[in-house]
Amino acid sequence: MNDLIYRLAVAGVRQLVPYQPGKPIEELQRELGLSEIIKLASNENPLGPSPSAVAAMQLALSELALYPDGSGYRLKQALAAKFNVTPEQITLGNGSNELLELVARAFLTPELSVVYSEHAFAVYPLVTQAVGATGIVATAKAYGHDLTAMRQAITDNTRLVFIANPNNPTGSLLPQAEVKAFIADLPETVLCVLDEAYVEFVGGNPAEDSVLWLADFPNLIITRTFSKAYGLAGLRVGYSLSCPEMADILNRVRQPFNNNSLALVAAEAALSDSEHLQQTLANNRAGMQQFIDGFKTLGLDWLPSAGNFISVALGREGLPVYQALLAKGVIVRPVTNYGMPQHLRISIGKPEQNARCLQALAELLTR
Ligand SMILES: *Cc1c(COP(=O)(O)O)cnc(C)c1O
Repeated sequence: MNDLIYRLAVAGVRQLVPYQPGKPIEELQRELGLSEIIKLASNENPLGPSPSAVAAMQLALSELALYPDGSGYRLKQALAAKFNVTPEQITLGNGSNELLELVARAFLTPELSVVYSEHAFAVYPLVTQAVGATGIVATAKAYGHDLTAMRQAITDNTRLVFIANPNNPTGSLLPQAEVKAFIADLPETVLCVLDEAYVEFVGGNPAEDSVLWLADFPNLIITRTFSKAYGLAGLRVGYSLSCPEMADILNRVRQPFNNNSLALVAAEAALSDSEHLQQTLANNRAGMQQFIDGFKTLGLDWLPSAGNFISVALGREGLPVYQALLAKGVIVRPVTNYGMPQHLRISIGKPEQNARCLQALAELLTR
């Protein structure tokens, strides 16, 4: 084999293992010729997007020959009004994943290190390694972030800390007060990305609460997404809230048209459809209980989750169970790459999808 291309690639990229997404329905259809497939593997919204988001996109179709608004003016206005920040504090991303990458590109070098937790979201090590920085993994506590361990892991050359709250794939949730105290205790040269991809699913008002901290912490970057509760994963829209200076830096490294025009109008419309969001949350609460009841019946343990997914403990290797579920047309997510070889992560679906997943699990596990 000619390995010249690999030798020419920068060291960090050469060592990367690509992100493993949930298996697409079409792929399983091609492989197994199954027709009735359900996907509970990527924490997507089983109710789909808000109808007003779809209507907004249909209206915008006639403008597709034009470049999108590279400043995202309207979406930023809507976000600013909703969260009581200024548009200058907002950075839009092609999914919130892009924002994680922009922070890494703007602030990291191979001399610097990044702290994140064991069992935390897989994109943190990816964006860290891609720029050649060193990832420091803090040991988890009961599968959740251990903020004491994370604080202790910070060294003189640490520039960035990632916190996912709630975390994926564990669903663990840190109390707001503990997160705030952690950020307050950081050296001013250490940035904190607070990844709130699932914040809408958390009771109370954490989404409004953490925004208030921005006034005190210029090193805080809150990231959120339209992919999960808002059901727009296919469009790729996320945003960050920060101090204006941080947003200015992130805006310098992003592509000028990183959000397409359909995504911009759909996200704006989705944001104002609180009825659809409430339906989404109600479906999620009911489905979460349905899975918990089902796991109890099957004698399985699980990790309490604040998100729209739940990781079940099988007490045996998860991969063969994942494969056997695929054969039954049920796609879930193995989490071996998260250091959880005996868990499977299941996204909460509609009641009938949840029932089918539990039924398939029962057939496999009681044999
Ligand atoms: C899904 C997810 C994201 C980002 O998803 P995007 O589709 O890129 O917005 C970010 N963080 C966590 C923890 C996630 O699970």
